[in-house]
Amino acid sequence: MTKPALQTNGSPGTSDDSRAGENLLEIVKLEVRFPDNTGPVTVIDNLDITIGHGEILGLVGESGCGKSMLARSILGLVPPPGKVTKGKIVLDGVDLLTTDEATMQDIRGNKVSIILQEPMTSLNPVFTIGNQMAEVLAIHCPDMKRRERRARSVEMMERIGIQYPENRYDQYPHELSGGIRQRVMIAIALICGNVRLLVADEPTTALDVTIQAQILELFVKLQAETQMALLLITHDLGVIAQTAHRVAVMYAGRLVEISDVGRLFEKPLHPYTRGLMYSLPRAGARPRKSHMPAIPGTVPNLADLPPGCPFYDRCEYRQQQPCREAMPQLEQVDRGRWVRCHRWHELPQFEVLSARLDRR
Ligand code: SF4
Repeated sequence: MTKPALQTNGSPGTSDDSRAGENLLEIVKLEVRFPDNTGPVTVIDNLDITIGHGEILGLVGESGCGKSMLARSILGLVPPPGKVTKGKIVLDGVDLLTTDEATMQDIRGNKVSIILQEPMTSLNPVFTIGNQMAEVLAIHCPDMKRRERRARSVEMMERIGIQYPENRYDQYPHELSGGIRQRVMIAIALICGNVRLLVADEPTTALDVTIQAQILELFVKLQAETQMALLLITHDLGVIAQTAHRVAVMYAGRLVEISDVGRLFEKPLHPYTRGLMYSLPRAGARPRKSHMPAIPGTVPNLADLPPGCPFYDRCEYRQQQPCREAMPQLEQVDRGRWVRCHRWHELPQFEVLSARLDRR
């Protein structure tokens, strides 16, 4: 798979090194909270991130790290009683958090779209594929006639590689394979033709490996053709290595590392990023019957975070001082490289994994 060249000079990792006008999306000091019996729980904490025009940004982390909540925040779809309590989300100059709901509905599906992990739960089982595609056009292009909506839907299906689109138009979701259903979701997300940012939340997780590769190939092709930006959320660093320009790593609702893909795979700085890389299954990398390497423990309960670094209990490099004493801040290491770890500069050399990842 050939990654599309980034048309900008590469965009910055956080708003602190942003260059005005070059970013499509700027998220500034975002905070999302949910009420809890013990008080509000912060599921996204003070998060800064940017996406450049035409950029593919990979967002990785385990379940419960806040990746999907970030995606939902961008679309204005944080499920109640959760709320965005602070910050800005600016898309092409428009602050999505202060805009009215009518404008937001117009932006959603038109300028920014989302694709979710499991197409079967996103598609309505009692309507045909064509019905569901045409409905999006009816909302966003009300002047379009029924015949035109059908033609546009069929054309879109063709463009994303669905065979026999005229027949598919009248089929129900259960009549299609998982791969075709996910292609339909991509067609629905892009059917309005103006999408500048596509958010794909674990879009290949529910698919088998060969179909995964085809869907990733399709993302790369569509991105290169349309120059839209793509926020690709995944727990699979192999997917990031093949597809993204930059990568952001999240842990416990915070960004812990952000970098261009080349430097991150060559030299991951945060112990969590290193743990994710060590946990990748690789043929021939360990003796048979030995245990798969894994990060010990689980993501902490956000309602009861330990003091200091949230990764402390799972980190092999932890030290009481300073790790337990203070929350590490996101620190700029180099242009476009940021890390949240007190001890990143003291950690031992990391084994280079990029060559192995390319061969997966
Ligand atoms: S701050 Fe300390 S505990 Fe946290 S990731 Fe770095 S070394 Fe580990």
